[in-house]
Amino acid sequence: MATGPADSNAEDVSLDLARELTQAIEDEQFFLVYQPTIDLQTNAFAGVEALIRWRHPRRGILSPDTFIDELEASGQIMPVGRWALNTACAQGAAWHDKGYRFSVSVNVSERQFETPAFFQDVADALSSSRFDPSLLVLEFAQATLLGGGEATAPRLELLRTLGVRFAIDDFEPGGSALDELEQFPIDIVKLDREFIAGLATSSEASSLVHRLVESSETRHLQVIASGIEDSDQREQLQNEKVHVGQGYLFSKPHEAAEIDRFLEDFAIFSGKPL
Ligand code: C2E
Ligand code: CA
Repeated sequence: MATGPADSNAEDVSLDLARELTQAIEDEQFFLVYQPTIDLQTNAFAGVEALIRWRHPRRGILSPDTFIDELEASGQIMPVGRWALNTACAQGAAWHDKGYRFSVSVNVSERQFETPAFFQDVADALSSSRFDPSLLVLEFAQATLLGGGEATAPRLELLRTLGVRFAIDDFEPGGSALDELEQFPIDIVKLDREFIAGLATSSEASSLVHRLVESSETRHLQVIASGIEDSDQREQLQNEKVHVGQGYLFSKPHEAAEIDRFLEDFAIFSGKPL
């Protein structure tokens, strides 16, 4: 098939990116930042989400939206995802050793979840770091779980034997999504950022949050609202009894040393041992 100039250009860019990513793995150009989550009812520090960054030699620090798809397409997400798991578990164990006890969430892409070696990757990350498995949360996109077919539940059950917990990410509670959740052993539901952004102006969205929180007790679910950017949103979510919040209002993602300082300030500010 003939390709026009636009197509071959796109291929060149993709080839360059693939080459650069191979180099990035070799040269260890990836690093993790961590974004705090806060208990909305008590204001206590609840945990962190690990988010990958690429320190590109010429283009500076790149966010995952620019390279995760390519890592997935090439299969390089497997070594990079393994590295992220190992790094996050080691960091979680280091915080635990300092006397902090909070969860560390790691994003898992569809390709990772579907690869049989993923189970061993999680097991190895836990055993080499000695991180408490009940503090490790694996975050899966709604589409990875709800669109994953019959293999999804057994995969989760197997991972469950390691003692880890699961979150469903970017969750939009409309349609049959809430009922479809039932079939999986999910511990945490993370409400989508866009959904939270529309909350103030949509009574339908508010009533969906209300229903989700109401049903969370019997389902033993923790509800997290992502992307909280202002105090009106925080107040509305607090009133709806949403358990945990995450977003720029509380903190942007930061490297581990910065989180250490955040934790120290936080303990002083809240006057509570964490
Ligand atoms: P996500 O899992 O939905 O992560 C939350 C994203 O929202 C992060 O973007 C975070 O920086 C951003 N965010 C947090 N609070 C706010 C806020 O108040 N306002 C706004 N506008 N944004 C906020 P980031 O770090 O660019 O990550 C993008 C996506 O890349 C993540 O979305 C996740 O799906 C993926 N990702 C990140 N790290 C990893 C990883 O280690 N492995 C895999 N497989 N995917 C990752
Ligand atoms: Ca996430």
